[in-house]
Amino acid sequence: MTDLTSLTLAEARDGLATKSFTSVELTDAHLQAMERARVLNAYVLETPEQARAMARAADDKIAKGEGGPLGGIPLGIKDLFATKGVRTTACSKILDDFKPTYESTVTSQLWRDGAVLLGKLNNDEFAMGSSNETSCFGPVVNPWRRNGSDTKLVPGGSSGGSASAVAAGLCLGATGTDTGGSIRQPAAFAGIVGIKPTYGRCSRWGVVAFASSLDQAGPFARTVRDSAILLRSMAGHDPKDTTSVNREVPDYEAAVGRSIKGLKIGIPKEYRLDGMPAEIEKLWTQGAEWLKAAGAELVEVSLPHTKYALPAYYIVAPAEASSNLARYDGVRYGARVPGNNIVEMYENTRAAGFGAEVRRRVMIGTYVLSAGYYDAYYLRAQKVRTLIKKDFEDCFANGVHAILTPATPSAAFGIGEKAGADPVEMYLNDIFTVTVNMAGLPGIAVPAGKDAQGLPLGLQLIGRPFDEETLFSAGEVIEQAAGRFTPAKWWE
Ligand code: GLN
Repeated sequence: MTDLTSLTLAEARDGLATKSFTSVELTDAHLQAMERARVLNAYVLETPEQARAMARAADDKIAKGEGGPLGGIPLGIKDLFATKGVRTTACSKILDDFKPTYESTVTSQLWRDGAVLLGKLNNDEFAMGSSNETSCFGPVVNPWRRNGSDTKLVPGGSSGGSASAVAAGLCLGATGTDTGGSIRQPAAFAGIVGIKPTYGRCSRWGVVAFASSLDQAGPFARTVRDSAILLRSMAGHDPKDTTSVNREVPDYEAAVGRSIKGLKIGIPKEYRLDGMPAEIEKLWTQGAEWLKAAGAELVEVSLPHTKYALPAYYIVAPAEASSNLARYDGVRYGARVPGNNIVEMYENTRAAGFGAEVRRRVMIGTYVLSAGYYDAYYLRAQKVRTLIKKDFEDCFANGVHAILTPATPSAAFGIGEKAGADPVEMYLNDIFTVTVNMAGLPGIAVPAGKDAQGLPLGLQLIGRPFDEETLFSAGEVIEQAAGRFTPAKWWE
């Protein structure tokens, strides 16, 4: 039998439907692959018993013709999604062994559609990071290595476990969250597809909050089609999240393979950075040519406020984080470190429970929201945010359907290489992705080529609000031209 972990999600779905194999077989194959790949540290919790029980139930339903859109498909879940009765930590010591009494809306929709839970995936602590090195469970290893080297590379972050697991064949797809790039950047580093949908497309209910006005859930998968299949199940209105939008969820898979003839694709000149590696520049030009060959019209566009996006993001996101993380006080969830009085207990708990990056964000956030500084920092950042959004609106008003940019300014880097004294080095990873969160738009990362060292590189397509379909159509054109990227299984 073919290796069941190398199938695409769509192939596995078809194989289950034609009874070529069962969900129990498919799930077991993944559980075994997970055991052999523990060196990657992608899963922080494996749930084999639950997985097998869910797979058996899925097989029963499939036999009755009631499998559902994801019937029997094994998935990994970022540890930021609350899973009922299954430890959920956000990869922070402060949540300890917190077992939610409820299920996030996004994951409950995946189970409703028949999917199987393989386990919880590693991420940066509270999703703060771009390399998955801030997790209390330690760093995740990227399945990709440089040619002729065994240096361990980061998978990107914050959804590093999701990216690594999908690329390494440890699940058929995974959930992620993206506040400033946490789906698209790791997808690019791992040679897979990741989409951050429009803000409001997926419910945030039951997802551990980082920066609520920017956070959005989305899927990771090995193909554009697979990500379209997953998003359809994840998306939809939820009365429990007032920012979720009541709008029909399209059949995203139907957009895969749709012609892009006549689409106007913008190339923003401000994304051409000084000192950008020639390989990224080449990849970008190549991507534009592929889209043109498929019938799209390429136009230069201007997004003049791009240069302010990163500084403004690093005010808005920490401000919201400092407020959201106030709830971890040793009383309501997880860990508690006693003190002589309640204030001391709060202080001891938070000092012991939060890692260095989270503490930095809480301090920045508290500072920019404090009386006297609010107008100078937070209010100004909000104004910049409006201007960034307007740049995109102007562009779309001029008839542009989607915008093509590189996904990241470099390929994956080594573990420890950028986690040094200057946090800004790490923050720069998100230079091409944060604008999209600031504007609330959908963005997809698609693998498009390799660098000279053999590492995958991705391109990003940014769409109009709620027009994920165009991203799937254009993304598939890039995928068809570039081919798929699979790492050698050096860990087996
Ligand atoms: N790397 C960015 C940050 O650290 C974005 C993280 C994310 O999207 N969750 O804030």
